[in-house]
Amino acid sequence: MKVEVLGCGGSIGIPGEGTTAFLIDEDILIDAGTGVCNMTMPALEKIEHVFLSHTHLDHICALPFLIDTVGVFRPRPLSVYASAASIASLKQHIFNNSIWPDFTRIPTPDKGVMRYIEIHHEEPVTVGSRTILPIEVEHTVHAFGFIADDGAGRWAFSGDTHRTDRFYDIINAMGNVKRLFIEAAFPDKEAWIADLSKHLCPSLLFDELKKLNPDTEVWISHLKPREHQAIKAQLLQPDTPQRRVELLAAGMQFDF
Ligand SMILES: [Zn+2]
Ligand SMILES: [Zn+2]
Repeated sequence: MKVEVLGCGGSIGIPGEGTTAFLIDEDILIDAGTGVCNMTMPALEKIEHVFLSHTHLDHICALPFLIDTVGVFRPRPLSVYASAASIASLKQHIFNNSIWPDFTRIPTPDKGVMRYIEIHHEEPVTVGSRTILPIEVEHTVHAFGFIADDGAGRWAFSGDTHRTDRFYDIINAMGNVKRLFIEAAFPDKEAWIADLSKHLCPSLLFDELKKLNPDTEVWISHLKPREHQAIKAQLLQPDTPQRRVELLAAGMQFDF
């Protein structure tokens, strides 16, 4: 299994650093932030499955453009996997024929180029040789983290989250989770915003990582661009005894 970082930023403002989107192999998109906007047409056409952690704009905003670009040329519908709450939000607020067309009814109501598939906490979804396990995490809207597994290696992605427990328990119980991608959206001086918006800041993150088994590599995403340097400095402190973490960047590719 390959995972490519299409975007891992917390917002706009750093050219080339799109918001959250990861590509598994060539056909599975995990979140659809602005990172998708750097993909070529042939690469976009290979996407068959889109898993959404939650409906905040930085994780979904390329989905309307993706389906608009590839939709009518698709031999089968693009599958969008999300929680019941997220699907309801997408229908009501995005694909509502006001903000954007309802592509589940285009070109005809019974044969749309997009379809929703509801996914549930701790119920794995098999896509070819890969299994995606959604696990509820703690955010201001319903949100999943995911663990992807192709039988050879496992990758965990937290999505947007505040303090949470079950996600780490499952990673530890599974074993062989090679890497965790997790967020640190705010610097420590804005810990109160992290608490309010149910995100993490470095001190909260390091406290959370005490729950994680030591064999899993930790890679960080979702730094708010305005505070990028401050968050980075707090994450990468070689002289402190905290857990070692690495920073993600758009364009990185990982093998599992
Ligand atoms: Zn969010
Ligand atoms: Zn986000």
